[in-house]
Amino acid sequence: MRACTLLLLVLAVRPATAQTPESYLARARAIHRAVPMIDTHNDLPEMLRERANNDLSKMNPEQPLDSIDTDFPRMKKGMVGGQFWAAYVPASMVDKGGATYALEQIDVIRRMVAQSPSLGWATTAAGIVRVHAQGKIASLIGIEGGYAIENSLANVRMFYDLGVRYMTLTHGGNTAWADAATEPPKHGGLTKFGEAVVREMNRTGMMVDISHVSDGTMSDAIRVSEAPVIFSHSSARAIADHPRNVPDSILRLMPKNRGIVMVNIFPGFVNPIAAKQAAGVLDKEREYMARYPGDPKRASAEYLVWLTNAMNTMESGTLGEVADHIDYLVKTAGIDHVGYGADFGSLTNHPKGLEDVSRYPYLTAELLRRGYTDAQVRKIVGENMLRVMREVEQTAVRLQKTRKPGVERIEDLDR
Ligand SMILES: [Zn+2]
Repeated sequence: MRACTLLLLVLAVRPATAQTPESYLARARAIHRAVPMIDTHNDLPEMLRERANNDLSKMNPEQPLDSIDTDFPRMKKGMVGGQFWAAYVPASMVDKGGATYALEQIDVIRRMVAQSPSLGWATTAAGIVRVHAQGKIASLIGIEGGYAIENSLANVRMFYDLGVRYMTLTHGGNTAWADAATEPPKHGGLTKFGEAVVREMNRTGMMVDISHVSDGTMSDAIRVSEAPVIFSHSSARAIADHPRNVPDSILRLMPKNRGIVMVNIFPGFVNPIAAKQAAGVLDKEREYMARYPGDPKRASAEYLVWLTNAMNTMESGTLGEVADHIDYLVKTAGIDHVGYGADFGSLTNHPKGLEDVSRYPYLTAELLRRGYTDAQVRKIVGENMLRVMREVEQTAVRLQKTRKPGVERIEDLDR
């Protein structure tokens, strides 16, 4: 018998069901090695602020941090290739203080990246690919909460120059120029100044993040933005009915906008029962702020105690349910418009199977088990986000040829 005939025979008798959990995991890991797996939202910087007052010698993520779900040893196990670190600014900063709060978060992220051998600084799609090839975790910054710019377009540019590559237009409460998902609407979406913010972000090359915003702000931002928009950490509202999730009407706009929805694993946005339990979680922060108007420190400390308890008694959901969201997003928005934005860092309750940042390959393996091809999974774990970043970068280059930097403050446009 000739050797090639023998080979054919061996292949023919191999059982068709050769795929085991281990083989899916091996394929998932190979994909994470080949493509930088990018996650667009981790709240570790806020933990550094809350628990160590931004002192990295007191809380060093190069070492295991057992009390939270994120540290660099576990990120390496999770084969994370690119991470956007959230520079979180709370809604209580709506009137003033947001810029300093953001600067302190950006500063601690930059110091963390500079001192950590596991991390490498990146500000572009090409940078992520380069740092991943060096075997390090490419690290980028996203501001969470438009209160950071204190109603001045100049601050958009200054934050860009510090390395910020996306800004979530709101957090839990409205900004002076954009409505949030979790406060009664005040503007009906974006104000004129809000539209100018989106245009200035397009011009500088900062991605417009519409997680946390109201449906009106979502559609206004998509209408105004000349570059693809992102949902840095949001899931599908049709599965878990929470205003933080993305409705079908907006998902269907993704192909034309060329934007992306990065799936969130917070149980309240994943599991339908937990979504009911999570209703009002972000309103509660305002309640505590109103209770202690002169003492925001006490207000946020008491809110945190309440929040931790509320989160821990919530239905947890499962890794499979997170994959259900991905299936739904792929079906409704398209395979080119989905990625990972887990929201690790501050979670104290996790879907079963996704307990910490080491677990990403298990989610990737689940997608393979469900029949996604390697090429499709490569898109979801990283290629889609790289494509969005390149398009945002190219849009900025184009706009800078014709458009002057915006100099307006809110009072110049909103009257
Ligand atoms: Zn968030």
